[in-house]
Amino acid sequence: MGSDGRQENNVSELTNLFSLRKIADATSGFDESRYVIFGVPFDGTSSFRRGSRLAPDTIRLAYDNLESYEFHYGVNFSDIPICDLGNLSVGEDVSEVIDDIEIASRAIVSRGKIPIMLGGEHSLTVGVVRNFSDCSMIIIDAHSDFREEYMGNRFNHACITRRSLDILGPGRIVSLGTRSVSMEERESLQWKDVRFVSANEVREKGIDKVINELDSLGMQKIYFSIDMDGIDPSEAPGVGTPEPYGIHATDVRALINHFAKKIVGFDIVEMTPVYDNGNTSMLAAKLVQDFIGSKEKPR
Ligand code: MN
Ligand code: MN
Repeated sequence: MGSDGRQENNVSELTNLFSLRKIADATSGFDESRYVIFGVPFDGTSSFRRGSRLAPDTIRLAYDNLESYEFHYGVNFSDIPICDLGNLSVGEDVSEVIDDIEIASRAIVSRGKIPIMLGGEHSLTVGVVRNFSDCSMIIIDAHSDFREEYMGNRFNHACITRRSLDILGPGRIVSLGTRSVSMEERESLQWKDVRFVSANEVREKGIDKVINELDSLGMQKIYFSIDMDGIDPSEAPGVGTPEPYGIHATDVRALINHFAKKIVGFDIVEMTPVYDNGNTSMLAAKLVQDFIGSKEKPR
């Protein structure tokens, strides 16, 4: 030990053994990156089936099984400057976690980079959205998440659409896949300020017609938030609050493909590995590729 350098060698050996998990294609440093991924292992306000705090690393593990070359988009992800910061250190107070997410994502956005957050529960989205107050928002979710407060907390994961409305204002949020709404939410005066596209509406019209209608809203910059329970439980069983009769993963992919060039920030939340058969984490990893792939696809 001491000046013979053995101590340093021991430390580097340990670092190799305990290396932090990153998205496999995230080989870029922060400064030269275009996309910045970070995980937030927090599910403190989740009420039913907790476990989304375990999702960030599970999604990274699933990602290891994807090819770096993406056949559909014709891009090689290992050539794209992607940085993975790892997981945010979190405490128990959701408001403090959201504040930290706001600070972290501001550092990313202010340098012209695109944040990709892996939750964690849906309440976390508010922290990122605070940096996008001039943007529109597309949410995928079975739930309207439109409560003024839940369990005595305005930052509960059941309030995220409402909190985003506080920031963005009326007429700028579209939530797709809706099929679970309380009467209190449906009768609130602000209900009309968000365009809720129910899962039934997507099924009846088809996603192409829905996309045409959304085009007429003239959204320019879009923050895109995917609550995995918006997708049908048969395709995404590993979620905290599953809800039957959802939209298809291919519907979500079509939305991402269509709006990619306008999307300025992206998150995937509410994936819960404990209840997964492996397909939900795989789908979440693939949605990260869908987002980056459709942004980088040669025109
Ligand atoms: Mn939600
Ligand atoms: Mn939900």
